[in-house]
Amino acid sequence: MKTTAKRKPVARIQDFTPAEQRSARAERVSVFEAEPYGWIARSEASGARAVARVYHLFRDPETRELACTCADSIFRGHSEPGFECKHVAAVLKFIGRQYLRDEYDPRRQQQQQRARVA
Ligand SMILES: [Zn+2]
Repeated sequence: MKTTAKRKPVARIQDFTPAEQRSARAERVSVFEAEPYGWIARSEASGARAVARVYHLFRDPETRELACTCADSIFRGHSEPGFECKHVAAVLKFIGRQYLRDEYDPRRQQQQQRARVA
């Protein structure tokens, strides 16, 4: 008798929070550094008639948080505190990877922790 391989339980997208869903969709966003500053997030749309959309992101000088020029960010960002569009999520991931690769220094972190305690 042949046994069929048991299918792995797959987590459906509905099982995730809205923030996690946006984070998952962020996988389809490509990020580049913009000139003279900021970042470019390019949404890779799928389907025959899909058009790739490009947004410019920058750090808001007042809030020190990432600001995106997409409609989601402009319309929902003001009404939902802590709202993050998929471009912001993708750029944060990009910056995080870059920081870990190029700038993270465990000794500096230790010094900063000591300075905070003192
Ligand atoms: Zn956005």
